Amino acid sequence: MKSVLIVEDEPAIADTLIYALKTENFSVTHVTTGSEGLDHFSSTPPDFVVLDIGLPDLTGFDVCRRIRESSEVPILFLTARDSEIDQVLGLELGADDYVTKPFSPRAVVARIRAIMRRGQPSPAPSVPPSSALLHHTEETMSITCCGHQLDLTAHEYKLLAIFLSQPGRVFTREQLLEKAWDDPGSAMDRTIDAHIKSLRAKLRDQSTEAAQTLQTRRGLGYTLVF
Ligand code: CA
Repeated sequence: MKSVLIVEDEPAIADTLIYALKTENFSVTHVTTGSEGLDHFSSTPPDFVVLDIGLPDLTGFDVCRRIRESSEVPILFLTARDSEIDQVLGLELGADDYVTKPFSPRAVVARIRAIMRRGQPSPAPSVPPSSALLHHTEETMSITCCGHQLDLTAHEYKLLAIFLSQPGRVFTREQLLEKAWDDPGSAMDRTIDAHIKSLRAKLRDQSTEAAQTLQTRRGLGYTLVF
C-alpha cells in the first residue's frame, strides 16, 4: 500500500482528498501545518506528498525546499491563486506537479497515480495548467489524458488535436469535417457526431472530468472547455 502525506490546513479540502485516496487504497496521513509535515516526513517518509502552499506556519514552498534537501519523493502542490502557480513554475522548487483549487478529488488521485507511475520526479513541473487534464504532444501525435496515453483512431486524434489547439472555440460540424477529413465531401455531419461520441467514451474511461470538457453547443457544433 502506497502512503501519502497530505499537508493542508483546510479540513474540507483535506477530507475529500483523504476519502478519495483511501477509496483507492492509499494509506493517508494528514497534518495541518508545515512543521508537522516536516516532522512526519522525517519520522515516517511517505511515498508521496500533497502540499498546500498557504499553511499557517511555513509556506508549502519552504516545506518543499526542506524535503528536497534530503529526498526525491514526488510532491504535488495544491495552489489557490495564479500568483502561486507562477511561483511554482518560476522557483524550480522540485515539485512534480500542481493542481489548482477547487479541484476534483478523483482527478487529483489520477494525477498522483500518473506521477507515481512516471517514477523519478522531474526537476520542474512540465505540464502547463490548462493541459494537465489533456496534453497534446505534436511531435509524437499523441494525446494523454490524466497522464494516460489515449488510444485514438486517426480521425479521433485529429478532432481532439483541433479542439486542443483552440480551447473554448466552437467548431461547426462542417469546419471539423473540413479540417480533419482528407475528403470531407465523402463524410456526413453525423460522422462527426459518431466520432465525438467515441472520443467522449475514451476520455470517460480515464476521467469523467475530461469527458465533460468536450461539449455540444446545440445547433452550432462542438467545443472543448477546460
Ligand atoms: Ca491553506
